[in-house]
Amino acid sequence: MNFLGRIKSELNKITVLRSLRFRLFIIIMAVGILCCLVMRFGIMQSYFNRAVDVRTSDVQNQIKILADHLITYNYLQDPTSDVVNAELNMLSNLYDGRVLIINNSFKVIKDTYNVSQGKTIISEEVIRCFKGESISNYDDNHNYIEMTVPITMTVGEETQVIGVILTSVSADSIVINQEILDRQAILIAILLLIVVFAIAVTVSRKVMQPFDKVTNAINAVKAGFTDEKIMADDYTELEHIVDAFNQLMARMKVLDDSRQEFVSNVSHELKTPLTSVKVLADSLNTQEDVPVELYKEFMADIVNEIDRENKIINDLLSLVKLDKTASGLNIESVDINMLMEAIFKRLMPLAKEQGIDLIFESQRQVTAEVDEVKLSLAITNLIENGIKYNREDGWVKVELDADHQFFTFEVIDSGIGIDEESSKHIFERFYRVDKSHSREIGGTGLGLAITRSTVLMHRGSIKVSSEPGEGTTFTVKLPLSYIQ
Ligand code: ADP
Repeated sequence: MNFLGRIKSELNKITVLRSLRFRLFIIIMAVGILCCLVMRFGIMQSYFNRAVDVRTSDVQNQIKILADHLITYNYLQDPTSDVVNAELNMLSNLYDGRVLIINNSFKVIKDTYNVSQGKTIISEEVIRCFKGESISNYDDNHNYIEMTVPITMTVGEETQVIGVILTSVSADSIVINQEILDRQAILIAILLLIVVFAIAVTVSRKVMQPFDKVTNAINAVKAGFTDEKIMADDYTELEHIVDAFNQLMARMKVLDDSRQEFVSNVSHELKTPLTSVKVLADSLNTQEDVPVELYKEFMADIVNEIDRENKIINDLLSLVKLDKTASGLNIESVDINMLMEAIFKRLMPLAKEQGIDLIFESQRQVTAEVDEVKLSLAITNLIENGIKYNREDGWVKVELDADHQFFTFEVIDSGIGIDEESSKHIFERFYRVDKSHSREIGGTGLGLAITRSTVLMHRGSIKVSSEPGEGTTFTVKLPLSYIQ
């Protein structure tokens, strides 16, 4: 991290600096101060420039009149004219300045300070002035306005420059005025800053108030005082945050409800076999001289119930594992035809026992990237259901096909079918269309939930279509290449 980055991260540790309210306050204050400064310097500078311009044009006018008098009194040849000398003195007193008259030999014939009289001045300004140019500039080091004005005479058609008036007048009075004005400007700026401060405090507090309101409302929800929706329509952005929060809360409520339902279902399902075991054991215990055959029969029932309890627990563990390891699939390239054949081989005894025909039809050889163990369990559940919920001499057929992106298999049976309403729920945990029938044939109501979770984890889809009394078809579509 560079030096600036380090400073930034150190500053970020100071809580108050991270507060939006504080930042807003600082921004308003900074803008206020900047405006005051720009206003003060802008106004002062333009006042000063204007005052110098006015003074310059005043003096220039006076000098032009003086230049005419110099010609009239032939002053350049004879600088003794009392009238002109008095006028010169008056001018230099009036503007607190110095006037030099230079003739066309660059010689100073009059200096109101009596310092440079008789000296020769050949400066750039004087030379330019002899060419007819009037020049003025402000010397900010010495606070003087310097001007050179040509003395011109018209001979016939021609205008000749016969001398130059070099003047420097003091700008002290302008500076003094500027200082007085500046003091007033500072006073106004301070008053303005007080107003800006009050605005910054009020605005930053007001703007942030809705955020405080929402924080309090969220805290109330967090503390459990209320589970009502939070309302905030002050700002669009805040509305979006509040909407997202409300949706999150609604989703959490759904999750919480489904978790509670799941827990109560699990307890109920686990309790049922235990209750049967207790009833069987109790009836053996309370009877005297129980015949051995009855003992054996009851014990066989108890073992069945324990097997059932075991199956429920195993199914639950598979389901929980699927939930937990959504990203933990063990993906490898699997020959799906071989996988199907292995499943068929395993299920053949069960099918035979029920008098069901198992048929496998494959349109092509399919190899796909899947988790072999999990997918095998999912397919087994579907085929097992086809066998379990079938009629006498029925059949279960699996059809496998693929295109260049997906492979599809359909598990079709000639069984009892599922009505439309129930088919909406069969993928839910513990849902069974006919509880007692499912229980009789050893169902837990978890098989299809496990299958669905597995298919979704492979980014696939599962659909069911069924006609009660005719049969059921489950269609599963999975990508050939695993999508992360
Ligand atoms: P179970 O362990 O009860 O079979 P499943 O989750 O596998 O649980 O299935 C849920 C319910 O869906 C079953 O109880 C059954 O009522 C119905 N069902 C599933 N497959 C079929 C099928 N092939 N034909 C008819 N009903 C089915």
